[in-house]
Amino acid sequence: PQLANQIAAGEVVERPASVVKELVENSIDAGARRIDIDIEKGGAKLIRIRDNGGGIAKDELALALSRHATSKVETLDDLEAILSFGFRGEALASISSVSRLTMTSRTAEQSEAWAAYAEGSEMAVKVIPAAHPEGTTIEVVDLFFNTPARRRFLKSDKTEFGHIDEWLKRIALVRSDVHFTLSHNGKTVRNYRPATNEAQYLQRLGQVSGRPFADNALRVDCQHDDMSLSGYLQSPALVQPADVHYFYVNGRLVRDRLVNHAVRQAFAQMSELDQPGYVLMLELDPHQVDVNVHPAKHEVRFHQSRYVHDFILQALQSALSQAHT
Ligand code: ADP
Ligand code: MG
Repeated sequence: PQLANQIAAGEVVERPASVVKELVENSIDAGARRIDIDIEKGGAKLIRIRDNGGGIAKDELALALSRHATSKVETLDDLEAILSFGFRGEALASISSVSRLTMTSRTAEQSEAWAAYAEGSEMAVKVIPAAHPEGTTIEVVDLFFNTPARRRFLKSDKTEFGHIDEWLKRIALVRSDVHFTLSHNGKTVRNYRPATNEAQYLQRLGQVSGRPFADNALRVDCQHDDMSLSGYLQSPALVQPADVHYFYVNGRLVRDRLVNHAVRQAFAQMSELDQPGYVLMLELDPHQVDVNVHPAKHEVRFHQSRYVHDFILQALQSALSQAHT
């Protein structure tokens, strides 16, 4: 199974940031309210994710490390209207096939914690007693130690850490209810405290986007039928374009020309700015959109793209006109 897992790892695990992404999404799926991320040497030496989510029961630890074990999808309809992040059931198996991975966890029902790790070429999973509060810690040591070609492909520690930091920004903006910390080589670099009101959210937005964008941003808040758009748009009064372009569809960051186009069009009559900044969350019926066309590319396909585009445009125009009254 190790070879199959390593092949799958080629698709899922491109670099340390992809490991962080998979593990943090698992923590969020598990209901964690706090997630601490410790990185050493850009993630090549160590990636440790600690959460206070629901944990993994002792007899499910070994299963979680095996391929296509997912507790998240039960029917095909689940797959079509997928709401949880993970669903392929191969992230943990893939990561553990290209690193030394240890998973330590305790559920609310258990009085003690257990640690699991895969060993040897057959990747037999060992489960031993451990100490851990309710929740899960996953430690990924020596990423790509057994796939030297991939290891060589890694960029400098600083660059790899930069990818992790950037990915965390994306998730921090949309999951402002979760407390995230990020440290590199023992030093805390980010501390995103949970935001439960708008002032606290703007605080977090300022940490991510810089103060000028957050202090001047226009609030976007628009609803039509079962579609809603909320978030922040760069104020035309801010002459410097903000390098903040985050668009989420049902909680997932996507890259889509549709939103860039709508933003430009909304700004066209207002200012010279060619590429204004935005942080926008679109919510719509999950059946109206295909996400995850490719897991790593953040692509999205709307069934009624014209309709979605015009809705976004109107929401932005209305935010801009509010700014002028
Ligand atoms: P997927 O997320 O696609 O289901 P993964 O390989 O990422 O597949 O994880 C396998 C399973 O391990 C998950 O379905 C979940 O049951 C369990 N799991 C992984 N990480 C955590 C975590 N941090 N807390 C609780 N359960 C977890
Ligand atoms: Mg997962």
